[in-house]
Amino acid sequence: ATALGGKVALVTGGSRGIGAAVALRLPEDGADVALTYRGSAEAAEEVVAEITARGRSGWAVRADSADPEAVAGAVAAVAERFTRLDILVNNAGVGAVGPVGAVTREEIDRVLAVNVRAPYLYAQAALRHLAGGGRIVSVGSCVARRAAFPGSALHATSKAALIGFTKGMARELGPHGVTVNLVAPGPIDTDMNPVDGDFADLQRGFTALGRYGTAAEVADAVAYLAGESARYVTGAELAVDGGFAA
Ligand code: NDP
Repeated sequence: ATALGGKVALVTGGSRGIGAAVALRLPEDGADVALTYRGSAEAAEEVVAEITARGRSGWAVRADSADPEAVAGAVAAVAERFTRLDILVNNAGVGAVGPVGAVTREEIDRVLAVNVRAPYLYAQAALRHLAGGGRIVSVGSCVARRAAFPGSALHATSKAALIGFTKGMARELGPHGVTVNLVAPGPIDTDMNPVDGDFADLQRGFTALGRYGTAAEVADAVAYLAGESARYVTGAELAVDGGFAA
């Protein structure tokens, strides 16, 4: 049996980018994977087809992370379909760039709803299903540690919240044998932050390795934290940022 054989993971925002890479990486270790998406039904079904091609079960659920009822519904539907839930990966997130004075209240609400409230609600809904050995892994950001350039305040605010989330949840869920950890990516080549985008050179320059990372490199770190090897790791933040925050 492989490391995650028989386990079921729920990856939020698994249709594209880092979430899709995670949804494809966990089956390599034997997990079945459910993923959520908001708009990209076709991309989500392609990820599911890939999971199936790897010999595991995959399932895509449309659920807008900004909608609390959709979040609760997604967790209940996944637990019912797979009869269990072992690993929650809080990945879905929205970017936010702009000077503090130009950010609208609607944007603040939207970013906090998706990047902060949703991970909390997902964890809350997953709690009753996560047994001993359960895992919560969230995707934060290097900007929570190093807001390297102007325009990142809202994004940094939302991602810094996940540090407190991770520590507080780790403390509370430890007695139940559930670990809670955070992966903090640096610049990763995705639709949100393309390697040839306007700010790419600036971000590349802040890394020690002098390059963008790939979604697969972040997925490897998530797989580590989701696996048995990380059983004594909880409340931790793992930077996968090429040294951006160093
Ligand atoms: P992408 O924009 O490439 O992909 C985002 C994914 O999240 C998509 O699958 C999208 O679904 C889903 N999603 C977005 N909003 C919602 C929503 N409201 N409800 C449900 N699903 C949603 O982003 P990345 O892969 O780059 O980012 C993934 C995570 O990594 C985010 O939390 C981001 O903040 C974080 N991160 C990314 C970095 C980077 O450089 N790329 C750096 C640091 C952190 P759909 O396809 O349906 O729209």
